Amino acid sequence: MELRERLRIAPGTAVDLGAIDPASTPGAPAKADKKWAAAQLTDIGAALGRYQEMLYAAKAAGSRQRLLLVLQAMDCGGKDGTVRKVAGAMNPQGLHIVAFGKPTEEERAHDFLWRIRRALPVPGYVGMFNRSHYEDVLVVRVHELVPPEVWAARYDEINGFERELAEDGTTILKVMLHISYEEQCERLLARLDDPTKHWKYNPGDVDERKLWPAYQEAYQDALGRCSTDQAPWYVVPADHKWYRDWAVATLLRETFADLGLRYPEGAFDVAAERQRLQEDCR
Ligand code: AMP
Ligand code: MG
Repeated sequence: MELRERLRIAPGTAVDLGAIDPASTPGAPAKADKKWAAAQLTDIGAALGRYQEMLYAAKAAGSRQRLLLVLQAMDCGGKDGTVRKVAGAMNPQGLHIVAFGKPTEEERAHDFLWRIRRALPVPGYVGMFNRSHYEDVLVVRVHELVPPEVWAARYDEINGFERELAEDGTTILKVMLHISYEEQCERLLARLDDPTKHWKYNPGDVDERKLWPAYQEAYQDALGRCSTDQAPWYVVPADHKWYRDWAVATLLRETFADLGLRYPEGAFDVAAERQRLQEDCR
């Protein structure tokens, strides 16, 4: 069974994150561990690199195909680590990686999708979003940064937006890295313990942690209301970093395999070109 089938949120279903164990490792062999995952990641990365090349080559033949990985998670959920490991296993030339923080004044002056549209991958590329338009129904909802009727209308807006992207050749892979409340605490403490990680520690994260139930509820709604046939959500249990990296890379590989990519034929006569070159190289 494909990993996508195991981790997909079926469109139209209510989501209960409490029923998904963040320490579980669905689809990985029973004896899998860090070492196993590292070896797998090397092989998967090579396969992803070949797919990237075919995607780029297809663009030269006029294809509008591209792939967009959207990563969402609670603080310390592992978004940065996943980008580092998964993107690190791929061909950097074909990647377009964007992280979304608090909107700037300019961004706030526009519709919430404005900055997202500007960051989309162009045909032939793989985009990776570290946070995304979903923050506008997550942090924005939890902190009541806009009135409820405004964020409530965004689920449909997001579905419409993603449908439009899909129709224009963008394959969207949306992944929520699901960590436990306990694991988040461990990771925050680890940041404090290591002076080289202090730059990543934000005292505000401790306040955000107090809002854990509100965030989980907001996530459940976003996953449930915005998992669609054209852009389903996947929940990756993420307490084990090795599993998380392997799972995201595997989801990408399965998604690529579905695109039916192949190298385009050259628009020239190979025999004639060979002859021309042979004469020229003499
Ligand atoms: P980090 O990922 O640790 O660099 O933090 C980025 C911060 O930006 C997080 O606290 C997010 O909640 C916040 N953020 C991202 N998008 C938005 C948004 N649309 N509105 C408000 N805050 C946001
Ligand atoms: Mg942070």
